[in-house]
Amino acid sequence: MMTNFTHLKTSVCILGCGPSGIVLGNIMLNNGIDCIILDKYNREEIYARGRAGVIEITTVQQLKKHHLAEPILNNAYTHGTCEFRSPEKSITFEYASLTGGDVHYVYPQSDLNDDLISMYLERGGKLLFHHEGKKIVQNDDNVEIKCDDIDAEKPVTIQADFVAGCDGYHGIARQSIPPEAVETYTKEYNYCWLAILAYAPPSAQHPLYGVHPDGFSGHMLRNSKISRYYLQISNNDTLEDWSDDRIWANLRKRLAKKGWKLNEGEIFQKRTMELRNYVMEPMRYRRLFMAGDAAHIITPMGGKGLNLAVQDAVVLAETLIRYYQENPDSSYLDRYSQIRLPYIWRAQAFSYSMLTMLHAPEGEDLEDVRFRLKLSQSKLEQLATASAFAKDFARNYVGIV
Ligand SMILES: Cc1cc2nc3c(=O)[nH]c(=O)nc-3n(C[C@H](O)[C@H](O)[C@H](O)COP(=O)(O)OP(=O)(O)OC[C@H]3O[C@@H](n4cnc5c(N)ncnc54)[C@H](O)[C@@H]3O)c2cc1C
Repeated sequence: MMTNFTHLKTSVCILGCGPSGIVLGNIMLNNGIDCIILDKYNREEIYARGRAGVIEITTVQQLKKHHLAEPILNNAYTHGTCEFRSPEKSITFEYASLTGGDVHYVYPQSDLNDDLISMYLERGGKLLFHHEGKKIVQNDDNVEIKCDDIDAEKPVTIQADFVAGCDGYHGIARQSIPPEAVETYTKEYNYCWLAILAYAPPSAQHPLYGVHPDGFSGHMLRNSKISRYYLQISNNDTLEDWSDDRIWANLRKRLAKKGWKLNEGEIFQKRTMELRNYVMEPMRYRRLFMAGDAAHIITPMGGKGLNLAVQDAVVLAETLIRYYQENPDSSYLDRYSQIRLPYIWRAQAFSYSMLTMLHAPEGEDLEDVRFRLKLSQSKLEQLATASAFAKDFARNYVGIV
């Protein structure tokens, strides 16, 4: 039973210590604005959740501006090439050469998040692990975040000027907004991904995207010993339907190229991933600001989710800092959504067009399937040349500006 009520006060309470929360916390701290971050998990559990690995040049530049890019600059490796394979042909897409040398940085989200937690704690930042947000109560002059201290088994209330909902799509921030207060946009698909991590050295020096009548496949680089793979599967499939042997056979078939061999190894993580797009407009409700996956979900195609989360945090931090330092009218706070939403929609548009280009079309209509496969082939052909389409694709792929 919970006893002993604790009451804390701060300027900004940050709900969630994923990439958006920890970036926001670091920037607030570095600018002398009091904040408290809380997360329902402990540090090890947060580390174990990390999912992404591809960081855009734009994200690195924004982190650099706030002295938070060292972990990436010191540890990441870069790539400026990817490859599209279909049964007919393989296209090596040198996107760095189409963007004046811009590249992707490959560094695991878990490591980046944990490095940023270390930076925050070393500078005296307040972070409450194992504190689960339960309720957000908005008052005229402040906002109260009711949470549970899981270890001490006692309730805690944090009173703040503002709360940042950085607690992901399933968090409480999104649920605390009355439906009529925001517009939401959602897209769902009748296929999903099987996401696999295996102890297997990379089978290529760059990401591979397989376009095949049996469905999309992907091979992403993680490090010299671990690789990530994706397979498009039906929404009706379960993990039991996909034995390790079936996974490797499908990857070999869908990524096949003459003279190329897939490195195989022990599969240590296998999960299905729903594909979904979701955007909330505006990304604010009174004293609550929404950032990252709490405000928008994007399919993993194109690797935009972590990047949008970090970029939201940077713009939100800059908005709040100016608000505290220069006391503009409170309508100034609307700039956060106004700045971020056009970028979020551009990322959605890019990710959606890449997804539909690379996936075996939905639906049973064979003529429709054949037609859309030809459209995909046409787009892939355009990537093989320095067409306007290829340049635009490269720009949006490496980092939306
Ligand atoms: C398999 C996979 C691969 C991906 N690959 C990429 C990629 O290559 N590139 C890319 O850019 N993106 C990628 N993404 C997306 C990316 O991981 C997410 O977009 C990113 O983690 C969002 O960060 P966030 O801070 O908004 O939320 P999260 O990372 O979800 O963090 C939310 C935090 O809030 C905490 N929390 C939740 N509820 C509460 C509560 N009630 N109280 C307190 N704390 C709470 C959680 O414990 C968590 O720590 C991938 C996603 C997946 C699943």
